[in-house]
Amino acid sequence: MLNIVLFGPPGAGKGTQSEKIIAKYKLTHLSTGDLFRKHLGEGTELGLLARKYMDEGRLVPDEVVIGMVGDKIKNTTGTNGFIFDGFPRTVAQAQALDTLMAQNNMSISGMIALEVSEEVLKERIRERGKTSGRTDDQDESKIQTRINVYLEETLPVAAYYESQGKLEKINGIGTIDGIFEDISKVIDKY
Ligand code: AMP
Repeated sequence: MLNIVLFGPPGAGKGTQSEKIIAKYKLTHLSTGDLFRKHLGEGTELGLLARKYMDEGRLVPDEVVIGMVGDKIKNTTGTNGFIFDGFPRTVAQAQALDTLMAQNNMSISGMIALEVSEEVLKERIRERGKTSGRTDDQDESKIQTRINVYLEETLPVAAYYESQGKLEKINGIGTIDGIFEDISKVIDKY
């Protein structure tokens, strides 16, 4: 089984690369951002709770995210593995994911981290905001908040996987296919 954490700041290309990874390796996509947006669209209690954090570009509380991910893992059967996209975003979430994996007789194969400079990230998010309809992609101060939250709360997650010998860094600037080729080389080693 392949269980991959695709890591990187907002705008790094995680969603785009996830789609290509899923198509090639037949994995189950688990994007916490997508799950929250689905809840929001359906007007569920979870969606309403998440909304106030998402609107401000802040992180939804760990216990809410971990509960949602746990449900999704439990309710997915017959998969070759998961691609985690936008999760874990805190060290507490990473620890909880290890526990969830162990409870389901699985483990994380590795983390692939996409590296992109802050200026390029902002450009990409602004571009995406023109068509994504995401309010958090359209407001400069929200974009900056998300990048700051990434640097302060999420970046330590890379060190968590590095200490387990599971971190692979990839240059996230280049063509979509070129970056995917680099990612595939890492996955083929797992
Ligand atoms: P994303 O689509 O991954 O950029 O996520 C959009 C928003 O959803 C984030 O800015 C957070 O408010 C929330 N979110 C998504 N994933 C997480 C997570 N793992 N932990 C906390 N909040 C999250």
